[in-house]
Amino acid sequence: MTESLPADGATTDLPTTSDALRGAVEAAFPATIADLTRLVKIPSVSWAAFDAAHVEASAEAVAELVRGLGVFDLVEIRRAAIGDEADAPMGKPAVVARRAARNGRPTVLLYAHHDVQPPGDDTDWESTPFEPTLRGDRLYGRGAADDKAGVMAHIGAIRAITEVLGADFDLGIALFIEGEEESGSLSFANFLRENRDVLEADAIVVADSGNWDLETPSLTVALRGAVAFRLRVSTLAHASHSGMFGGAVPDAMLAAIQLLATLHDADGSVAVEGLTSADLETPAYDEAQLRAETGLLDGVTPIGTGTILSRIWAQPSITITGIDAPTVANASNTLVPSVAVRLSARVAPGQTDVDALAAIRSHLEQHVPFGAKLEFDAFELGQPFLVDTSGWAVAESNAAMEEAWGKAPVEIGVGGSIPFIAELVAEFPSAQILVTGVEDPDSRAHSPNESLHLGVFQRALLAEALFLARLDARSEDS
Ligand SMILES: [Zn+2]
Repeated sequence: MTESLPADGATTDLPTTSDALRGAVEAAFPATIADLTRLVKIPSVSWAAFDAAHVEASAEAVAELVRGLGVFDLVEIRRAAIGDEADAPMGKPAVVARRAARNGRPTVLLYAHHDVQPPGDDTDWESTPFEPTLRGDRLYGRGAADDKAGVMAHIGAIRAITEVLGADFDLGIALFIEGEEESGSLSFANFLRENRDVLEADAIVVADSGNWDLETPSLTVALRGAVAFRLRVSTLAHASHSGMFGGAVPDAMLAAIQLLATLHDADGSVAVEGLTSADLETPAYDEAQLRAETGLLDGVTPIGTGTILSRIWAQPSITITGIDAPTVANASNTLVPSVAVRLSARVAPGQTDVDALAAIRSHLEQHVPFGAKLEFDAFELGQPFLVDTSGWAVAESNAAMEEAWGKAPVEIGVGGSIPFIAELVAEFPSAQILVTGVEDPDSRAHSPNESLHLGVFQRALLAEALFLARLDARSEDS
């Protein structure tokens, strides 16, 4: 963005706006935390086995907060069907809102989700999961970080710019607060298609990721995709006594072990031809940190090559996450005829999930020992994502983060996936996508004792308010 001094010599009003926004965010912070606390108290678990009424209630509560902002032309709770069948079940309720852009300003879509993961066992929590509790600098509770704080970052940022700029600002804003992210976003694609007119935007902020540490903001620029399937390896029509035929016919476990062993090199790198890696610069992160964070046992070495973060963010990985075979307790002297395994792979940004699946499948078919029979089923796919960081939205967001945090953001990757981002890109290919967030390395999203660091939250909220103000001040040709 080019800034120039007005001809009359007055200074530009941006610094003043920044100070005012900082003050507004700070003054409203206790009220923001109070709103967040009320949202966290609603146990809006979106999984099928949980009471759907809580997800309805949290949609209502979010919609009320959004209406209270007084800046939207439309605020509604909507849902879409899961799949294309005539009698398809409906997805969970999402809150959408929109105000039109004026005077050539862009429109930004703000995304977060109001549903949460199941809490797990209450006894694993130091305080009750849906009784938000402040300990030190952190607010504990299921959804306190993921992603009700993301919801409140959007609401708080809009409140701040409304207070400073007035409700009459020019920036277009669309809001999409999903209700089923933690249960797989099953109606997401239909929802986007049916609500295109409400959600269409020049830039999309997905507030559902994290920050490098408590002092360093981050833009998430790379997300690995996912491929998983069940593989059945069979060698015999029926089980036989190992004493009678062992040594002459292969059992399925031997075939499976030999086959699975071909998936990795001796150093643990993935050895599947056709799987690609991305070229990504990674921040400093050493083996000691990896050991501490993962509980790697003394004497056990890490696997793979390249920087540790490039292995997690930019290279593929393959893990066998389950094996169906006789249990040790039930083991008899039998040649096992058939073994099933669950193979779970992470796909590097830059490769499609379908291509990665084809490469792994073809590797298995080419390396199968003894002519064993292979069957594949129960596929799950998720696209990886690599952000184009060359657009104006990234530049504005980086500047806003640096201003709010007093430190330039680092670009990070995420080893896991957020599959719905690929669907956003597919529906809105020309929109610039910014994956931001309110989490920090100790937030423990999805785990017991999930928490939000209040300092990180306030800085992330201010960064978003500054970002919105910058877009509101953006002229068409800058
Ligand atoms: Zn989330």
